[in-house]
Amino acid sequence: MTPTSTAPFRVVVVGGGIGGLALTAGLRRHGFDVTVHDRDTDPAATGGYHLTLDTSAQRALRELLDPELYARLLASASAVRRRPPDVWFDWRGRPLGEITVKGLDPDSIDVDRITLRLLLADAAGDSLVLGSTCTGVGRDEGPGGRARATFADGSTDEGDLLVGADGPHSLVVRHLLGHPTSRPAGLLGISGRTRAADLDPAERARLGPRSSLTVGPRGTALYTGFLDPDGYAVLDAAHDRAAVTTGPTYVWGAMVPEATASAALREQRGGPLRDTTVATLRAAGWGDAPLQVLGRTDPSTVASYRFHVGPQRVRDMAPWPAGCLTALGDAVHATPPTAGKGAGTAIVDAHGLVTELLAARAGTQTLATAVSTFETAMRHRGTAVTNLSMATVDRILAGASPAGSALTRLSLPVLAWSTAVRGRVTGRR
Ligand SMILES: Cc1cc2nc3c(=O)[nH]c(=O)nc-3n(C[C@H](O)[C@H](O)[C@H](O)COP(=O)(O)OP(=O)(O)OC[C@H]3O[C@@H](n4cnc5c(N)ncnc54)[C@H](O)[C@@H]3O)c2cc1C
Repeated sequence: MTPTSTAPFRVVVVGGGIGGLALTAGLRRHGFDVTVHDRDTDPAATGGYHLTLDTSAQRALRELLDPELYARLLASASAVRRRPPDVWFDWRGRPLGEITVKGLDPDSIDVDRITLRLLLADAAGDSLVLGSTCTGVGRDEGPGGRARATFADGSTDEGDLLVGADGPHSLVVRHLLGHPTSRPAGLLGISGRTRAADLDPAERARLGPRSSLTVGPRGTALYTGFLDPDGYAVLDAAHDRAAVTTGPTYVWGAMVPEATASAALREQRGGPLRDTTVATLRAAGWGDAPLQVLGRTDPSTVASYRFHVGPQRVRDMAPWPAGCLTALGDAVHATPPTAGKGAGTAIVDAHGLVTELLAARAGTQTLATAVSTFETAMRHRGTAVTNLSMATVDRILAGASPAGSALTRLSLPVLAWSTAVRGRVTGRR
């Protein structure tokens, strides 16, 4: 991407999460007039744990961000390649083997969602308007018509293009289609973060400096992500480090089928939600070891959320005619966290749109062609990630049926025994 013409071209972005801020950063870098609106009043006061960025997301960010900001990102992220391979355990904490994930990029990096959002908010600078809740969007009829957003305080903003980067319940997508494109994926997630130092030495040793997936009966599961931007930094440059995680930390996400989740799991927060989650997994038969990381968590970090997924067929994704309103990221292809691809895909979308808009501004294509080309690529990219993430969701949910649960109870101990006999989990890469 090389900046070309500087003809006026105004873009309004609704939603300053990961995708909207990445888009704004790239457009600013190339001299576009852009404003991004987010309903949050502080970019740091947001939820979220760690996000995985594969090589294509890193390549996109390298082009969207100034080099100094990109260096700060690398200094604040931990390298997947530098830690031992991920493993899976059974519900009593017995190792079953190394996880081989289809599509996992060994050069991926992990970064706190808050850290990434703050870095991107820095890049967006004064283009970011906080506390700005969009309540409606529209466009003028006919070619060359402008797009418009209305906000809760009665103000409006308009541009040549309006981009909805407003997440899985996107107001922009609902305007374009009349209905949301995402649906509940069938799992309820409960997340928190626990410092490794707060675990017993034996449990710390069992989990190790690696991520793991623990599979239990009745469609329950636990992802435990290891994050340590100090010890496993991608770029060893302490002066550039901006990570909110400052020591070895486990970022965990328990998964329970929505069909059997209690009202308390959906409604509680903090300490009560942590205790209900531990009780729910214990009732499903889980042993003490894998529950320790939940029990020792900082209660202020515990929250539950419903997994949402966007369309799994290309023809159902972004099926509106290309024009001056479009959308990207979870607004179009909501992605359960089970593939670790949601943020990276939103960033690649942003890069794709910046590339096409540069060509439109330079006059080598029309705005409609730019948007259409961007949306076509996004349909294929988005469908690949919704299917990848649902493959894991479906495997977990398969264990929720009485037959699936019985199979889990019978087969995993045998696998654990054979893993122990063959000593397959080495803890080294
Ligand atoms: C609070 C939170 C925590 C998350 N935690 C994780 C995690 O731990 N692991 C993981 O893999 N993924 C997580 N995700 C999902 C992940 O961030 C997304 O999959 C990914 O970043 C896609 O980015 P996006 O920009 O499309 O959507 P998001 O990053 O979700 O951003 C959407 C933005 O739109 C804003 N918005 C929505 N409606 C309006 C409106 N009407 N007006 C103005 N602004 C609006 C929201 O405030 C939000 O900032 C989380 C998302 C959120 C919102």
